[in-house]
Amino acid sequence: MPRKVQSIPFKASISAGWKQIMQSKMELLYESINLDSLLKGAVGCGSKIGFWADCWVLNYPLMDAFPALFALDANKRCKVRQRVGWSGPNVTWSWEWKRRLRGAAEEEQLQQLKEVIGNYEFGISSDKWVWLGDESGKYSVKSLRYIIDYNRLPSDLNPMSWCHWIPLKVRCFMWRARLDRIPAKTGLIARGVGIGGGSCSLCIGTDESHSHLLISCPFASRVWDKVAEWCGVSRLESNGLRDVKVITEDEVGSNKLKMAHCAIYMATCWYIWLARNDRIFNGIPVAVQNVVDKVKVHVFMWLKARAKLVDLAWHKWCNFSFSNFPV
Ligand SMILES: [Zn+2]
Repeated sequence: MPRKVQSIPFKASISAGWKQIMQSKMELLYESINLDSLLKGAVGCGSKIGFWADCWVLNYPLMDAFPALFALDANKRCKVRQRVGWSGPNVTWSWEWKRRLRGAAEEEQLQQLKEVIGNYEFGISSDKWVWLGDESGKYSVKSLRYIIDYNRLPSDLNPMSWCHWIPLKVRCFMWRARLDRIPAKTGLIARGVGIGGGSCSLCIGTDESHSHLLISCPFASRVWDKVAEWCGVSRLESNGLRDVKVITEDEVGSNKLKMAHCAIYMATCWYIWLARNDRIFNGIPVAVQNVVDKVKVHVFMWLKARAKLVDLAWHKWCNFSFSNFPV
């Protein structure tokens, strides 16, 4: 099947993996990811890589860099070898213009094109394709996944710390919460989900955004105050959800204390969220002390079992404070 000039190499017989990638090409363009610019030809013999349409000497095709010259070429699907000859440092040219170049602008473009190609290091074997999404030059799903996430996720967030001692469901919840991807009411309404009103399920006072629900809601504030009181500090929460690594980076204390702080922070958000769900879906009244007790019990179990703080005793944990960490 002859391929379009504006495309990376793609045939109907190509393997399933690449076929699916190409079918996702338009979808990725909506994410500002151009697969054309992620594949670059490494010219060896020059018989397989398109001179104009493929990305090889620049990080984009020559037809985009020199559109006037591309328009003049009589064979737009020509290969590199059909336009350039090389032997050591010597480069020769074979053009097929539809007409003679006219004017200084076209001549200048041709000169620039020759300079660009003149600095290219041609290989000595066959042509290859290099995936620019990974330092190895080899395509992997992981590398494309990283690029998609990098483009899709908000850039003003610090990377999420994946504390392994905290259950995966809680870590995922925190990750989604920081991206405003938990199904709080304002988010659902913004996505067109018909749920009636958007009032907070806990205080019925204002819109239920993720940050209101977990941080600034009066119910959540009382939970945070109680947890902070238990920890012997004046304040644990902030105006918005934070990455746990940021929370503890300036903190003085052992790594174990920082581990406990991270776990307490995540657990407080998590059990506020569960209290909200219990109220909506099970009709269970919310109670501040109930949420605080769950934070205490579950963080104790996480630290003892998952973080292997075997010396942590329950009676000491109940009297926990940041200034007197019990292990
Ligand atoms: Zn509220």
